[in-house]
Amino acid sequence: MNKLTLADLDLDRHQVLVRVDFNVPLSERPPTQPFEDVSYAVADDTRIRAALPTVRAIMEAGGRAILLSHLGRPKGQPNSSLSLAPVAEHLGGLLDGKVRFCNSTTGPLVDRTLRSMPDGTVLLLENTRFHPGETRNDADFAKDLAQLGDVFVNDAFGTAHRAHASNVGVAQRIPKAAAGLLLERELRLLGDALHHPTPPVVALLGGAKVSDKIGVIRSLAAMADHILIGGAMSYTFLKARGFNTGASLVEDDWVDDALNMFVAAAGKLKLPVDHIVSTDLRATAEARTVSRDIPAGFMGLDIGPATVERYLDILRRANTIIWNGPMGVFEKPAFAAGTHAMASGLAEVTRKNAITVVGGGDSVAAVHRAGLASQITHVSTGGGAMLQFLEGRDLPGVSVLTDRS
Ligand code: ADP
Ligand code: MG
Repeated sequence: MNKLTLADLDLDRHQVLVRVDFNVPLSERPPTQPFEDVSYAVADDTRIRAALPTVRAIMEAGGRAILLSHLGRPKGQPNSSLSLAPVAEHLGGLLDGKVRFCNSTTGPLVDRTLRSMPDGTVLLLENTRFHPGETRNDADFAKDLAQLGDVFVNDAFGTAHRAHASNVGVAQRIPKAAAGLLLERELRLLGDALHHPTPPVVALLGGAKVSDKIGVIRSLAAMADHILIGGAMSYTFLKARGFNTGASLVEDDWVDDALNMFVAAAGKLKLPVDHIVSTDLRATAEARTVSRDIPAGFMGLDIGPATVERYLDILRRANTIIWNGPMGVFEKPAFAAGTHAMASGLAEVTRKNAITVVGGGDSVAAVHRAGLASQITHVSTGGGAMLQFLEGRDLPGVSVLTDRS
């Protein structure tokens, strides 16, 4: 990578401003005392743990880490249910209590806290999206943020596809902006899988919509040896190929593009040969297996067992696998078998030294649900960012970092 990384920065006794991705799910918890204000807890700390190597490296080098993150979509206004306070509490538990929290992002309270902060400790600032300037990449807000640090580190791959004040604006207004350890690892692993893969390369693509993924399918079609399609997007392809799709989700506006892509892929692109169908998402008792054509009134909700075998056969011979998008409505056990089988297939080939990469919010959730996340080479922390990277488009949060001279 031709960008500065954490190793290039002087950290000792420096104020190191770090953009992390602490956009984690919270769960409500009943207050234990009257008037208690933190009534939320971190429900899944995967993203917090993913940032620990960078934060610990700064602490151990004797720097002060000032952490910036967004949480949810508060639309430029403070919103107590989206405060980062519970995240600070959780982070404190992971870092021996060396974490402070400010309920603002800039201003006198932040300045005062910074002055009293010992080296080797951490300050988490409040949700950057409480400020209307964040998503607008407002110059004044970015300047105020930049004044908090001597240097800037971006470790938030998940927002790297957005040009916001806390990742792009701030990086433009500080002497040095570097990639954190997590961002560096994401870029290296995804970059290797995309640009220097060991063949055979298999792209496993599913999820809700063809329209969300058209750029990714096109880009992967150019480099992969096989493209395996599942999920709701397969019905737009199957309709284009002339099969009956019943009541399945089909994007009629994309049928022509799907057909063109199928033809251009010249046999590389594989579609499901059977399906788990039902009359309704909730009608799990009606679930049954059908081959190719889906009867009227039925929706395809998962890939069927013959497709699973066919896809596993191809996965087992792969040396590089890139997976985005569940094979079915994995949130419901009745329609999760296809997605779980693919997750197991990836774990199996990873044990045989294949490189496997999974990204996308729902795909990552599915791999965690299957208990297989630790058996995959790389589970990306980015959804939209990973898709944009796989499309071969620049990520603004990365482009803006200081070039290595
Ligand atoms: P990711 O977040 O991994 O990029 P997507 O958001 O594109 O994935 O798609 C995930 C969603 O697609 C899930 O909520 C899943 O239930 C849904 N889905 C997958 N297959 C089907 C299907 N056959 N019919 C309806 N929804 C589906
Ligand atoms: Mg999704």
